[in-house]
Amino acid sequence: MKKHNFYAGPSILSEYTINNTIDGIRNFADTGLSVLEISHRSKEFQAVIDGASALVKELLDIPEGYSVLWLGGGASLQFCMIPYNFLKTKAAFTDTGTWAHNAIKEAGLFGEALVVGSSADANYSFIPKGYEVPADVDYFHYTSNNTIYGTEVRKDPDVPVRMIADMSSDIFSRPVDVSKYDAIYAGAQKNLAPAGVTLVIVKDDALGQAGRPIPTMLDYRTHVKKGSMFNTPPVLPIFSAYQTLKWYKELGGVEALEKLDLEKAKLLYGAIDDSRIFQGTVTDPEDRSIMNVCFVMKPEYKELEKDFLDFVAPLGIMGIKGHRSVGGFRASLYNALPIESVQVLVNAMKEFEAKH
Ligand SMILES: *Cc1c(COP(=O)(O)O)cnc(C)c1O
Repeated sequence: MKKHNFYAGPSILSEYTINNTIDGIRNFADTGLSVLEISHRSKEFQAVIDGASALVKELLDIPEGYSVLWLGGGASLQFCMIPYNFLKTKAAFTDTGTWAHNAIKEAGLFGEALVVGSSADANYSFIPKGYEVPADVDYFHYTSNNTIYGTEVRKDPDVPVRMIADMSSDIFSRPVDVSKYDAIYAGAQKNLAPAGVTLVIVKDDALGQAGRPIPTMLDYRTHVKKGSMFNTPPVLPIFSAYQTLKWYKELGGVEALEKLDLEKAKLLYGAIDDSRIFQGTVTDPEDRSIMNVCFVMKPEYKELEKDFLDFVAPLGIMGIKGHRSVGGFRASLYNALPIESVQVLVNAMKEFEAKH
């Protein structure tokens, strides 16, 4: 039966990515070897990592003076590498969820982590607004999409300092003005590739100013200088990411992807808003994520949540159980998810509602 994959991460990959990855595992670039068993320094793999980095630059319209890196350790290692490399004395943060919170915690090991806005007291159900970022901080860090809570910042914030963002779960779903950022990072397993690689974009001349010794592997300059090949990079996730990036380009780039993502989100939020039994968890509609849609049963129908999960399972709907810190349901609508899957979910919601 056809499956409809709403998992939040690792998550759906396009057929194009899956099929080309399988081909590369069997016979990589006509070498007669698998991409799994060939040197990362071979000219064939060099072409993959160069091609992937070039496509990232093209798709995000990255200006001169930035490097694209492919690193291990997940987005979580970036919570440490970012302050290690960029924090001199003080950085500002918005606390918008678990991942933002983790970034703040790690930054506190290197200097002052100033929280200028937080929705922690409201279980992160909105994006703080009207906060002020002091001009004397080294940078402002934010999480563009809060994967667990279903809130998203869909416009580059307007602050008086350089920015750094965790875009793990919404990169390539909107155009970004990269020139405002010293760094952008994204664990690949949400909207790009299998788990195991993190895409990092750094501004070259912003590096080397933190004034502290940095261990070699944690120093971005190492990876800039060596083209992400100081040590063996995660070759298979990079190979898969390259396939996804080619597919993104074929589809028309981030503007086209954003349009598709907005249509999918509109369809699902529309069904939630029209529903008698379901309701969204994000309090300000402006903050609703188009990547992760969080919803619950209204209080008077709360006991039906388990029944709904049982109801959708035979329809091939997978991965909509909400994160334990929000409960209810979360449907992730990443780039690779076809709108047909959203329609199947919406139909299931209507059918279930009619029965109750
Ligand atoms: C998943 C996620 C992370 C954590 O990524 P890892 O690769 O597991 O370390 C960090 N930030 C955001 C926004 C995420 O969605």
